[in-house]
Amino acid sequence: MDEYGRREKLKEFYLKIRECSKCSLSESRTKFVFGSGSACAEIMLVGEAPGKNEDLQGLPFVGQAGKLLDELLGSIGYDRSEVFIANVLKCRPPGNRDPKVDEINICKDYLMEQIKIIDPKIIGTMGKYSTQLLLNTDRGITSLRGNVYKINNRIIMPINHPAAALYTPSRMEILRQDFQKIKKLIDSGGETGSLHEDILSLGNEVEKDEEEKNEQLGLF
Ligand code: URA
Repeated sequence: MDEYGRREKLKEFYLKIRECSKCSLSESRTKFVFGSGSACAEIMLVGEAPGKNEDLQGLPFVGQAGKLLDELLGSIGYDRSEVFIANVLKCRPPGNRDPKVDEINICKDYLMEQIKIIDPKIIGTMGKYSTQLLLNTDRGITSLRGNVYKINNRIIMPINHPAAALYTPSRMEILRQDFQKIKKLIDSGGETGSLHEDILSLGNEVEKDEEEKNEQLGLF
């Protein structure tokens, strides 16, 4: 799909889902947070859910964590308009509580469709929720971050959530290093050397039963 086609398709998709009322978060939200950036981005970054500022503005990562994200992108030569930033949930959980499983299951199709349209080379999953969703795993972010997985010819790289890095200085340094790794992966044209290859597909992740999940974890 050419650039124009991708942009139109993404816009069309936004118009289709922006008034979503599939779960109760739609009742408490101020704005639906679709995501922002380039429809042709090579890099997509996926967080957890909108917070207070994002809910008010309708844009992802506009608070403190967003400032850090802009800085990290700048450190590898990117402006946020050149990547695509999205979340697992499109609406703010009240009081910034953690996303619930049923909310994720309802909302995940939106993220999957965004990934399909944008077709990024690399997805940086920021924090536990997007990492577990896109890698179909229950493993924690600490053991997964910095690893590189290839799924359906797309690189998935779990990284610390910027908000977590703001609270824990040791995580900040790791996050900076992981951004450099993202840059290297892009510069090498997705040549991943000895990374963890696996057979997961983005389309069928959460449906798998426990036994299958565990088998797959052995492949990481
Ligand atoms: N944290 C997230 O996970 N997403 C945002 O959009 C903002 C903060």
